Amino acid sequence: MGELNTSKPFQVIIVGAGIGGLVCAISSAREGLAVKVLERAPEILPIGAGIQIPPNAARILASLDLLPKIRETAIEVQKLNFRRYEDGRLLASRKSRSHAQWFVIHRADYHQVLLDEAKRLGVEIQLNASVKDISFEDGVVYLEDDTTLKGDVVIGGDGSLWSTTREKLLGKDSQPFQTGDLAYRGTFTLEQLEALNDPRVEELCKEPAVTVWFGPEKHCVFYPVRGGTQFNLVLLRPDNLPQGTRTVKGDIEEMRYTFHGWDSVLTKIISCIPSVLRWKLCHHDELDTWTKGRVALLGDACHPTLPYQAQGAAMAVEDGAILGRFLGKLFLLLQNGSISPASEAESISRVLKLYETIRKHRTTQNVQGAISNRHFYHLPDGPEQQKRDEEMAKHSFTTETSEYKFLDMKYNADLLEVPVLREAGKAFDSWWSSHTEDKGEGNRSLM
Ligand SMILES: Cc1cc2nc3c(=O)[nH]c(=O)nc-3n(C[C@H](O)[C@H](O)[C@H](O)COP(=O)(O)OP(=O)(O)OC[C@H]3O[C@@H](n4cnc5c(N)ncnc54)[C@H](O)[C@@H]3O)c2cc1C
Repeated sequence: MGELNTSKPFQVIIVGAGIGGLVCAISSAREGLAVKVLERAPEILPIGAGIQIPPNAARILASLDLLPKIRETAIEVQKLNFRRYEDGRLLASRKSRSHAQWFVIHRADYHQVLLDEAKRLGVEIQLNASVKDISFEDGVVYLEDDTTLKGDVVIGGDGSLWSTTREKLLGKDSQPFQTGDLAYRGTFTLEQLEALNDPRVEELCKEPAVTVWFGPEKHCVFYPVRGGTQFNLVLLRPDNLPQGTRTVKGDIEEMRYTFHGWDSVLTKIISCIPSVLRWKLCHHDELDTWTKGRVALLGDACHPTLPYQAQGAAMAVEDGAILGRFLGKLFLLLQNGSISPASEAESISRVLKLYETIRKHRTTQNVQGAISNRHFYHLPDGPEQQKRDEEMAKHSFTTETSEYKFLDMKYNADLLEVPVLREAGKAFDSWWSSHTEDKGEGNRSLM
């Protein structure tokens, strides 16, 4: 096996230019590493609909100096309003906290900010580069066009349903399973909504808020993007797509029929959606491992989730930022001779394992939290729904605990407010300290 040439920066290869892959690229490049991103698409198109950037992701973006660019098109959310499906009655309103910024943005704008920053930092983005296999011990990546590339580390950020990196790493077919829900996603313009000529719709459009309607088996999420000139609507319902489908064009009539009888403001908005995509929502049993040799997974490739906490991309952002930071610190140790070239492969695999260890618990909690929210949001009318609505009506979203994760503020603080990069830094520090103590070399702190 080849040893690292310490005069050259670490070569990081990232499979997939999604949100997680690009944040990993940016974080690694800021550490002075050489980064190449392999993206199977022939071009990066401005696709997708709205996406929320919750405070945990916003904190990471701030640490990468990306918030000013994000703010150019994003809207900072002042509150999250939760409404009853039938009549739009407000069940609760959760104000955004000053120390925890929450944004909504068009995914294409978010992606563009990440892409521009990656390029500015010298990251090489190779399009039309579909990865078909990986050699885990030596970091060789095989592309569909039969070319090969070699990295010191390879990161699999190739998404959820058909992640090649995940399947190769696990050595078997590994598709996430269907959750039983699907999402319709659509965006439309302010002009389209103004044409409805309805003061309640206009009121809704003015608010820098995320509005969620809860109903039996279904819920809907609405918020502004692109400085309030466009709006995003996500409608969630039981899945009726064939197995194996991920995204297809939606049937507008079916979508309208599904939400017939809901709050008239919502049904009016639904009536002006010109086209919509249907997404099958998937998740995965916890994977036994996310790492092998010089390779690690991130984002949906290892922990796809129901989008019921707006955390899928946010967790991928956390993964990517931490991986970049860890690889930078590891490279320093190799460069300054604290780790000998002979132990290079072993130290890479140990640092990737450390990443997996600290991320698994948090991302598993997130997947479970989203499942718990599904129950909470979709309660059928009856005693439990009435109890939920009563608890929401008196909730202040500050310090209360609750049997529902959604209303449990300890759970929420852990999810949204823990400084994960700093915590990860401490974990790396203590890993290195225990390593040097084992070797009798004293306690050398690096972070
Ligand atoms: C309805 C809905 C609403 C959502 N809302 C939110 C939200 O509000 N907030 C939030 O944080 N998350 C949200 N999410 C989740 C979020 O979209 C995903 O979790 C996130 O995009 C995952 O990022 P990723 O980088 O892991 O993968 P992806 O963004 O899927 O990127 C994977 C990339 O890898 C490329 N690729 C795949 N295979 C290969 C290959 N073999 N070789 C090379 N390249 C390859 C793909 O082309 C793609 O560019 C939502 C999801 C849905 C469905």
